[in-house]
Amino acid sequence: MPDRADARTETDATEDAAAGASAGGAGETRTAVRVQGLWKRFGDQVAVAGIDLELPAGKFVGLVGPNGAGKTTTLSMVTGLLRPDMGRIEVAGHDVWTDPVEVKSRIGVLPEGLRLFERLSGRELLAYNGRLRGLPGDEVDKRATQLLDVLDLAGSQHKLVVDYSTGMRKKIGLAAALLHNPEVLFLDEPFEGVDPVSAQTIRGVLERYTRSGATVVFSSHVMELVESLCDWVAVMAAGRIKARGTLAEVRGDAPSLQSAFLELVGAGGRDAGDSLDWLGGSR
Ligand code: ATP
Repeated sequence: MPDRADARTETDATEDAAAGASAGGAGETRTAVRVQGLWKRFGDQVAVAGIDLELPAGKFVGLVGPNGAGKTTTLSMVTGLLRPDMGRIEVAGHDVWTDPVEVKSRIGVLPEGLRLFERLSGRELLAYNGRLRGLPGDEVDKRATQLLDVLDLAGSQHKLVVDYSTGMRKKIGLAAALLHNPEVLFLDEPFEGVDPVSAQTIRGVLERYTRSGATVVFSSHVMELVESLCDWVAVMAAGRIKARGTLAEVRGDAPSLQSAFLELVGAGGRDAGDSLDWLGGSR
């Protein structure tokens, strides 16, 4: 089995990642993100338990895992939003914590629970982000117009962000993250709360973006989506990487990513047994 780490001990997985720079990849793959010995603890809760990971560049990479697996904590540390307790992170060849300016100029981030400047309109938000990124005003205008158009936000560009719907907020957040044409784009649950039409639009934009050689790393619970979008997947549970590799490698002999995932995270769906015997009973 190529790179399924489910049956391995944590030590095995750590040694494996340290020894092989091309874990899960075929041949000479460039690396977009390199994580070594990453740890984060909140009080007694270990959120990320010493992970090693190499994410290939130019791919659509999915980070999947059950609730509380440590995906958001990992993405927050990788994008420089949360300081790790231990470990090294390199993005696009630069250390996130010793070379933050270089890294931040090369990445775009759509975090979970994105906070936006609510009292700006969608267009103003993009203008602000573009100028903050050092782009010339006319270039910001051009890119903002195109992004608003493609993401179907042109009609709402002068509306205040506070009045945007959930899906519109995701889309304007995505536009802001893409405006400076980053090398690596990190998206935490980009499709959550997004209707199928908008999801299709977002998908189209991201597919075009990765075709140009850029990398998308996104977290999701929706296996069908990950299966249809991603070239490469890392499965996380309880703060550890359970499997990583191409979609085919992670899926292995399982009929779908969903069943491989359930097998890997050790949850065949908890049976309520008799514990909910009051539910749906005679009233
Ligand atoms: P979900 O899919 O539900 O969003 P996740 O995989 O993104 O989950 P995290 O949000 O990274 O998981 O959380 C991992 C663990 O760390 C959880 O047990 C969570 O309760 C804990 N945790 C995360 N952030 C904090 C925090 N700021 N303070 C305390 N505990 C935290």
